[in-house]
Amino acid sequence: MKEIILLKNGELALKGLNRHTFENQLIKNMKFRLHDLGKIRYTSSQSTIILEPLDENVDLNEAFRRLKLIFGIAGISRCAAVEKDMSVILPAACEYLKDELMIAKTFKVEAKRSDKKFPLKSPEICREVGGEILSKFHHLKVDVHNPDLTVTVEIRDNYAYIHGNQVKGAGGMPVGTAGNAALLVSGGIDSPVAGWMMSKRGLQLCAIHFASPPYTSQRAEMKVHSLLRQVSKYSGDILLLVVPFTHIQEEIKDKCPEELFTIIMRRFMMRCSEAIAKERNCGALITGESVGQVASQTMQAIGCTEAVVESLPVFRPLIGMDKDEVIEISRKIGTFDISILPYEDCCTVFTPKHPRTRPKLHDVEAAENVLDIDSLVKEALDGTKKISITTGD
Ligand code: ATP
Ligand code: MG
Repeated sequence: MKEIILLKNGELALKGLNRHTFENQLIKNMKFRLHDLGKIRYTSSQSTIILEPLDENVDLNEAFRRLKLIFGIAGISRCAAVEKDMSVILPAACEYLKDELMIAKTFKVEAKRSDKKFPLKSPEICREVGGEILSKFHHLKVDVHNPDLTVTVEIRDNYAYIHGNQVKGAGGMPVGTAGNAALLVSGGIDSPVAGWMMSKRGLQLCAIHFASPPYTSQRAEMKVHSLLRQVSKYSGDILLLVVPFTHIQEEIKDKCPEELFTIIMRRFMMRCSEAIAKERNCGALITGESVGQVASQTMQAIGCTEAVVESLPVFRPLIGMDKDEVIEISRKIGTFDISILPYEDCCTVFTPKHPRTRPKLHDVEAAENVLDIDSLVKEALDGTKKISITTGD
């Protein structure tokens, strides 16, 4: 039996005249993610996109698995595509959905008839398909309110599509529809989650990681690659920029008060990141900060960090979340097990014993004035290396 995948594109439907731009971006993202699986035709109409394999080798299980991660898709169904004729539809529904029909205790049938020339109206289609199923699966009962299985028959232009329960998609907006943003990514639990969340809102990620060799190891950097590779299964390819941070950290350690070390360091991260973001056409910075999580994330500390960013918004999607809520997402998206590998991040190098939790901006500015800020930033930017992180399923 010929099979296709049918997608509902949720929130996109709300976008009025922009809808086509959103749909086109979504199709582009899907083509990119599925290109190695063989020839697939993509057609869209009425908030639905149909993926039709054009050769027999297309692995629909794999396609389905990847599609579940792509933002902009509200629901996914794998369907049988059959001739628009009740004498074909009735046996096909029983045969195609037999496993699900055997397991279910209750079911209902829904029909959608976008081809208005089809001789039966939707309630008649439901009645006939329902009757056929009841005559073949004697254990089943109809429950129109809360059925175990909803059998859907959609009569469209070329085929009748038959499917069981729709699987929830990743939701959100297609990556690329909201522009580019720069994610400050450490090897921790939070920042990959922050990146995933903003990617879900349609932002294309560029990642920035600060490394302090020899205090931080090559393995710590490889951990960031692995984290981003996992995030890229959702977000698509990510360009990673690794910024050498050792000299900046050593200068701060040697010349600034210990209790302000972290906050000054974070201000340098923001300065370097804003410069990179602007060069890369990014419209925002993204961090994994959450109020009160550590000393550098008190309201006052975040205020001092943010004060150095001249003209970009800083997105902090985790700002009001508890650690367990972040961990729950990181488990769901598959970054947690990588994040807990024990390699050190540059933030754990030279950490002060008693960091100032309520720093005052003028104290911080005065303390860092002894440093040649511009040339330190320039040196770090000049030493930045680029790495392409590709999804690689
Ligand atoms: P995470 O789990 O993301 O490491 P954290 O709780 O350890 O978060 P901090 O170390 O204070 O928090 O960092 C706060 C944010 O600063 C991170 O979420 C990330 O966005 C950014 N950041 C921290 N370290 C780095 C780094 N080495 N490179 C790039 N960004 C970083
Ligand atoms: Mg960290």
